Amino acid sequence: MNTYNFDPSKPIVALTFDDGPSEYTSRILDTLQKHGGRVSFFVDGIRIAEHKSKVIRAHLMDCEVLCHAWDHPDLTTLSPDEIKTQLTDTINAIEAVTGKVTKMFRPPYGYINETVTKVAKEMGLALINWSVDPNDWDTSDVDKILDYIMSNVKDGDIVLCHDVYDSTAKAMDILIPELIEQGCQLVTVSELLQYKYGDLEAGVLYPH
Ligand code: ZN
Repeated sequence: MNTYNFDPSKPIVALTFDDGPSEYTSRILDTLQKHGGRVSFFVDGIRIAEHKSKVIRAHLMDCEVLCHAWDHPDLTTLSPDEIKTQLTDTINAIEAVTGKVTKMFRPPYGYINETVTKVAKEMGLALINWSVDPNDWDTSDVDKILDYIMSNVKDGDIVLCHDVYDSTAKAMDILIPELIEQGCQLVTVSELLQYKYGDLEAGVLYPH
């Protein structure tokens, strides 16, 4: 039997943040430190060196640091070797800082094709997208981001956000305590997927 770091009888949501780490990651971590909960970051490998302390802090706060890609290309335009390099370099950079080997990644833009899936399978990686998308990259309106998430999020959802915008970090100041107050448990995407699907399969896209 599995044991969980949350109460399975109550709602769970995974907030995920792509394209960082950045100067705005700290604000999100501050909010989590104040209110509780944990989130997942799908990082760009190229940004890790400059923001190493934020990656370490996220890891120490039981947040999850996972692979997006090295410098955010559309992986469907790359050769198998180029895809492998994008993912391997990022996974190695994460491991060097957190000591954890990530077994999943989120393809930039959510774009996948047969080649990306095949490389993922060879590398033992699951592919992770999302179920709620507030398009936070497309607006600087904090209320718009907040309203979209609050009116669409339900138990078991994976929310796509980006920790590279001031407006997203400000929306989290309000969203995180509000979700917690409503009885929602903020868990990592790994915890949520493991609960829903069991062990993840390499080369398979989640959620499905
Ligand atoms: Zn991205």
